[in-house]
Amino acid sequence: MSFKSLGLSESLVKAVSEQGYDTPTPIQSKAIPPVLKGKDVLASAQTGTGKTAGFTLPLLDILSQTPPLRNRPVRALILTPTRELAAQVHQNVKDYSKYVDLRSTVIFGGVNQKSQVSTLRNGVDILIATPGRLLDLNNQGLLSLSKVEILVLDEADRMLDMGFLRDIKKIMGLIPKQRQTLLFSATFSREIRKLANEFLTNPVSVES
Ligand code: AMP
Repeated sequence: MSFKSLGLSESLVKAVSEQGYDTPTPIQSKAIPPVLKGKDVLASAQTGTGKTAGFTLPLLDILSQTPPLRNRPVRALILTPTRELAAQVHQNVKDYSKYVDLRSTVIFGGVNQKSQVSTLRNGVDILIATPGRLLDLNNQGLLSLSKVEILVLDEADRMLDMGFLRDIKKIMGLIPKQRQTLLFSATFSREIRKLANEFLTNPVSVES
């Protein structure tokens, strides 16, 4: 099995190969094809399985198929529970987007918002964020989510454990209903299933 055979474009295969990866991990083999087809995906995956590339690579592939929108509004939003994870996901996005024309940035709380705001003003295609700071910037009118096409909930179980359910629901209300949604979680509690039922449409279920 190769990344190319999963349907990823040359630019992404090249970037992933430069990271030293030639063989997809099981979660990547299972998640990448349905995401590329535009399907909602419900993925059961622990940290360390290669899950980040499992959603990042097809997301970059989809966005790179069409030219950036005017003024570069956010087209893909990746929500994570912590700033450490947000920074890590952003690093992955940067590594894999070396050969495609897409801009990304990360926003999280606990630091001054000034530089985050100025990057957002220049326009970004992909935003990685923790829920609190995202809502904060949206409430201040500094960020619109009305053009989001792809939403990823990464480590959804941890987001719920940390009490982000209300914030997630508010964020869902700011994003178009017509979108692709990917939910990654290490565990599948009743609450996670409820969240998936509410916000995913006919999802394909995959596990690592
Ligand atoms: P993650 O589960 O996304 O946190 O990834 C765990 C680790 O696996 C990270 O260090 C990745 O860079 C690495 N990784 C991602 N994809 C692959 C792959 N196809 N083969 C080997 N390692 C990978």
